[in-house]
Amino acid sequence: SIHHLAYPPSPAEMDWSTHFPAFFEPPAAEGQGSKNLKGKKVEFADVGCGFGGLSISLAPLFPETLMLGLEIRVQVTQYVSDKIRALRLNPGSVDPDNAEDVAAAAAEGTAEGEDEPAAKRQKVETKDAKKSKVRGIKPELMPPEGYAYDNVSVLRANAMKFLPNFFEKGQLSKIFFLFPDPHFKARKHKARIISPTLLAEYAYVLRPGGLLYTITDVPDLHIWMTSHIGAFPLFQRLTDEDIDNIGLTSGEGVVGYEGSELQRERERAVMEAVKKRTEEGRKVERNQGGKEWSVWRRLPDPE
Ligand code: SAM
Repeated sequence: SIHHLAYPPSPAEMDWSTHFPAFFEPPAAEGQGSKNLKGKKVEFADVGCGFGGLSISLAPLFPETLMLGLEIRVQVTQYVSDKIRALRLNPGSVDPDNAEDVAAAAAEGTAEGEDEPAAKRQKVETKDAKKSKVRGIKPELMPPEGYAYDNVSVLRANAMKFLPNFFEKGQLSKIFFLFPDPHFKARKHKARIISPTLLAEYAYVLRPGGLLYTITDVPDLHIWMTSHIGAFPLFQRLTDEDIDNIGLTSGEGVVGYEGSELQRERERAVMEAVKKRTEEGRKVERNQGGKEWSVWRRLPDPE
């Protein structure tokens, strides 16, 4: 059940069939892993996914890529799980993520700082949602007809423990740390999700060429994260220009990924999602807080 934290002894023994039934069959016998039907593995990990805004907005952008939110809080994980189930049952009615945000804003009186009455705006959004199927996606990046959120799931786990029990070496092409808990006090710093020890695990599960993303509204945490990642030999920070060009060259760490203008568009949408599509990111936006982000490429292992 979602309530107890269970870790497979190794990635091969993980049962992914409950998460991605369109991609895996249940294990044939106890202690075995699920049967992989399509040769796909989880490639994007959203660490401390909270209410799941990132993974849920990336899923239709990368319909062929399996993505997983990792979240430690029971109720929050359950919420994301329920949301994904609702989307699978009714993918045409998207984007609940956004509708909720509008509803929350409506309760506050105005929608996202606009002058329009919230109630009216909500109506328009609902109508648009029906019309365009998946809101907020450029037409050229729309998923194929019949897309139903089969490629996204959430797992209740302590991401600071046992990550290599779930993911093989080099399995991930993207790992996200979006608005992680700041743990302000110095004696709490060891609780931070980025640390030298944990970076070794993140580098292990991320493939060479893969990307690690951070964003925060806490300047001190940004300095902490970037200085630790920067000191780690297997990560190279991307410049703003590099970030803008992600997707242009082939081999961005995603299997079958050919660089193209379209891929660049898709990767730009990823950056937009990193900044604006998580619940915490929206909250910061509403409060007009600053955000600082960084993107890092996993370098090849030294000879
Ligand atoms: N990334 C989300 C966003 O941007 O909206 C959530 C940000 S929230 C401030 C941090 C989240 O990380 C919380 O939901 C918290 O429960 C989760 N979290 C903290 N430590 C964790 C851990 N060790 N493993 C998994 N999730 C964790």
